[in-house]
Amino acid sequence: MLPRRNTHQVKVGNVVVGGEYPVVIQSMTNTDTADIAGTVKQITELAVAGSEIVRLTVNSAEAAAAVPEIKKQLLAQGVHVPLVGDFHFNGHRLLRDYPECAKALDKYRINPGNVGKGSKKDEQFAFMIQCAIDYDKPVRIGVNWGSLDQSLAGRLMDENANQPNPLPPDAVMKEALIVSALESAQKAVELGLSPDKIILSCKVSHVQDLINVYRDLSARCSYPLHLGLTEAGMGSKGIVASTAALSVLLQEGIGDTIRISLTPEPGGDRTKEVVVAQEILQTMGIRSFTPLVTACPGCGRTTSTVFQELAEKIQTFLRAQMPVWRLQYPGVEDMKVAVMGCVVNGPGESRLADIGISLPGTGEVPVCPVYVDGEKTVTLKGDLVAEEFQVLVQEYVEKNYIEGGKKRTEKSKVIPIINV
Ligand code: SF4
Repeated sequence: MLPRRNTHQVKVGNVVVGGEYPVVIQSMTNTDTADIAGTVKQITELAVAGSEIVRLTVNSAEAAAAVPEIKKQLLAQGVHVPLVGDFHFNGHRLLRDYPECAKALDKYRINPGNVGKGSKKDEQFAFMIQCAIDYDKPVRIGVNWGSLDQSLAGRLMDENANQPNPLPPDAVMKEALIVSALESAQKAVELGLSPDKIILSCKVSHVQDLINVYRDLSARCSYPLHLGLTEAGMGSKGIVASTAALSVLLQEGIGDTIRISLTPEPGGDRTKEVVVAQEILQTMGIRSFTPLVTACPGCGRTTSTVFQELAEKIQTFLRAQMPVWRLQYPGVEDMKVAVMGCVVNGPGESRLADIGISLPGTGEVPVCPVYVDGEKTVTLKGDLVAEEFQVLVQEYVEKNYIEGGKKRTEKSKVIPIINV
């Protein structure tokens, strides 16, 4: 296991963030929160995909009024995922006017840059903290590069200008992000909120900046940190940038909960950000969620699409089974399945997996040897290879991952949020 930074433990609903608890995956809805049916549906999809905390926008009276009903419908479906209210500008008013919303949420996200201006700022911040105290809720003090507290940034710029060796402006801005989070947390504690009710984040949109800011922030406090590259972008760019930044920090034990901020394609699947978060943690060996398929990239030896289709079918099958498997077959998350394209590396990789299949490349005898725990057990052929291999995978799971099965590992720890 990678070493983890020592932090407070913060309870968010039924999930603990920080300390030695597993790095928690969270996501955010992009529905209109006032659309109760649409929001319940998306939160359920995110939770089933593996999101352990879900944040939703609370930006209007309609949204705040919808939150208790959203929570009620989720609980009625057996979805116990903690809900975080994302507040900006009017959070103090919404929490005051909609106490049922304040009660239903499991955490409040407060952005110190958007909590109010001038003399109102401290008063409105204090009101939100008092709500957290009154309703016994944790908060995330979430600073963002795009909405940095301008009065604080101005103050630090002035102080810097008076130094004998002033720092470059971008270094001052990074310091302002960190100071905004730390000073806000200090104020919250002075107002009476316990430190074990506070999570911090300082999100920026460039990889190197994020790494530098979080290294510095983590060295200066013991609050759990919410990690994420803000505005990471679309498609492969968003995935690569998030992975590059988060993997460096996670490797250093920094980060207690992560969110991958992907811009979905129009009509795209919001659960993609959950899958990417899981794959970052799993490929780094930090946590396991779904058996991963080892598949070769294919080359001139695989001119048909049979191999790609089988690899995709098996990965989709494995992911679809997980809501049930993770409860019935503890440890199955760690199972390794190989789908290989030809005889060059196929038998070798298949032997290294728990269960693997080596397909025939172009010009090879059209047979598919299957390897189980390193031994060749059967050879499949014909048009139903995919279906037959799926049955063998199912049988392998049933045989090897029964309750308390010996394949269970520490990395398989699951945070139960769904009653299926
Ligand atoms: S295992 Fe065979 S098909 Fe796959 S990449 Fe290697 S040589 Fe190509």
